[in-house]
Amino acid sequence: ARVANPFAGGRAYVNEDWAARARSSGGGAIAGQATFVWMDRIAAIAGTTSGRGLKAHLDAAVAQGATVFQMVTYNLPGRDCAALASNGELSLSDLPRYKTEFIDAIAAILRQPAYANMRIVNVVEIDSLPNLITNVGSRPTAQGTTCDQALSSGVYRDGVAYALGTLGAIPNVYNYVDIGHHGWLGWTDNFQPFATLMGQVVRTAPATPESLHGFASNVANYGALNEPYFTVSDTVGGQKIREVAGGWIDWNNYIDEVSFVRAYKPVLESAIGHTVSMVIDTSRNGWGGSGRPTARSTSTDPITYMNQSRIDKRIHLGNWCNQSGAGIGERPRSAPTTGVDAYVWVKPPGESDGSSTAIPNDEGKGFDRMCDPTYTGNPRNANNMSGALSGSPVSGHWFEAQFRQLIQNAYPAL
Ligand code: BGC
Repeated sequence: ARVANPFAGGRAYVNEDWAARARSSGGGAIAGQATFVWMDRIAAIAGTTSGRGLKAHLDAAVAQGATVFQMVTYNLPGRDCAALASNGELSLSDLPRYKTEFIDAIAAILRQPAYANMRIVNVVEIDSLPNLITNVGSRPTAQGTTCDQALSSGVYRDGVAYALGTLGAIPNVYNYVDIGHHGWLGWTDNFQPFATLMGQVVRTAPATPESLHGFASNVANYGALNEPYFTVSDTVGGQKIREVAGGWIDWNNYIDEVSFVRAYKPVLESAIGHTVSMVIDTSRNGWGGSGRPTARSTSTDPITYMNQSRIDKRIHLGNWCNQSGAGIGERPRSAPTTGVDAYVWVKPPGESDGSSTAIPNDEGKGFDRMCDPTYTGNPRNANNMSGALSGSPVSGHWFEAQFRQLIQNAYPAL
């Protein structure tokens, strides 16, 4: 039987491929931390030049004496429908290949008896289902596979259901689904609709409610765990800051990840029909460094007040690619605070979110202008600058300059 919190009392596998890169880029202080192993294309199962394959990782985990193995399955047909940086190798017509060559191949490895005592934490298809709520209909994105197509074809629902059902049939696999982050599903328009969609997905065969163990927030994003110097209900200059048009909060119900996750847990539990485990990716949400505020702003202008008080120093909450000024966040640990089963490092720090210029590659990765520091934005970041670092390689590839900045701006400091 599964335990409620798979991280409790566990020892998580340290990915030596990542650790070696971290060490050689000045990250000795964090190279011993556990980061997730990403299965981001079919070839990753057997192993590529950038890392060993799944079986080799699991064998290394056994050799380390690890009891928790953390991975991501990320190869959905028509992947990354609202952006281009992580478009993948499969198109919407490739659902049969996704099932047999990807999910079945992963399942065949995970179910080997040698790994039966390992708690395998598997985060399923980042960004996919949240995109079906926020980037469809009147809020479309016009590029590659659109999210409207991902929704109307049923491929995202069926692909995620297949991953949940197939991998969740293995008794020691703990499936977590991505809930974006507070700056994505935190608005009233998105919050309950996503939970309702999840209720449908876990009842789409072969998925069952029992095949899902929990939810992961802030994966590969930069949202702060806690904003210590202001609250969502503050009033400044006679105005509720939450309701100031064009302000940092802009009608969101949350300003940070812990409050978002705590509020979402019971809502998701009622949609799924059982208790769910919540985790937060803290790999890059530290926001330390010299620019970090140390007190609440005294400004009586609500916009200035929010901008001076917040520790999240992004230009706009919708910015997501290689954010300048970000730092390593809290180290992974179990049961850090009420309502949260673990802080985890799902996105391995130092791996790019996308290339800052177009770079040919054989992984299906596109060039998204949100990764270009000269880009002046689109409606989804209210036409702000992208805030991305320059000189970045394609998503998933090692970006040493970003890694060094993350180390520098770590909070807690390293
Ligand atoms: C990339 C993947 C990579 C992952 C972790 C994603 O943005 O598309 O290829 O494995 O990040 O770095």
